[in-house]
Amino acid sequence: MISPALEFDLRSSIRTIPDYPKPGIMFRDITTLLGDARAFRRAVDELVQPWAGSKIDKVAGIEARGFIIGGAVAHQVSAGFVPIRKKGKLPHTTVRIAYSLEYGIDEMEMHADAVAKGERVILVDDLIATGGTAEGAVKLLRQIGAEVVAACFIIDLPELGGADKLRKLDVPVRTLIGFEGH
Ligand code: AMP
Repeated sequence: MISPALEFDLRSSIRTIPDYPKPGIMFRDITTLLGDARAFRRAVDELVQPWAGSKIDKVAGIEARGFIIGGAVAHQVSAGFVPIRKKGKLPHTTVRIAYSLEYGIDEMEMHADAVAKGERVILVDDLIATGGTAEGAVKLLRQIGAEVVAACFIIDLPELGGADKLRKLDVPVRTLIGFEGH
């Protein structure tokens, strides 16, 4: 999907912190990628490369790292940006959905008027693991009539099946780097 050289560069720019936030988790820290001007630019360019030239109305980013990447992607494709946030953070009228986490459920929200019916939206986050968060975001966007054109993530943890879960919902998925395990 991306060239081996670019894949190597991006992978090297991500810091892995074992056993954070709890034992057994390999935390993929993208702050090092964001701090590397070249890696950040190339990741943003590559994420939306398949949709370069298509009409994208909005980029929706998932709190919080999806805001940073999604904002840059929105600028890149000349689209508006829509934040999808944890419940209780947005000031105006919202739509809300419950989604599953590894242990339990949580809720996410977006402003009800953030996307007009039929608008073409790309969903962005830093990483997809089980896909519970992204699946919730896709359903929330569809609930208000968005056309979800694609979901883009810098990192995939394929063993956890999140990208496949989204593809089963008929959402094209773009990821740049895969890591083994959790
Ligand atoms: P999931 O809903 O299981 O796909 O989890 C995705 C969300 O959890 C994303 O917003 C990620 O930022 C975060 N996340 C899950 N696993 C990791 C990990 N190993 N390293 C860093 N972030 C993670």
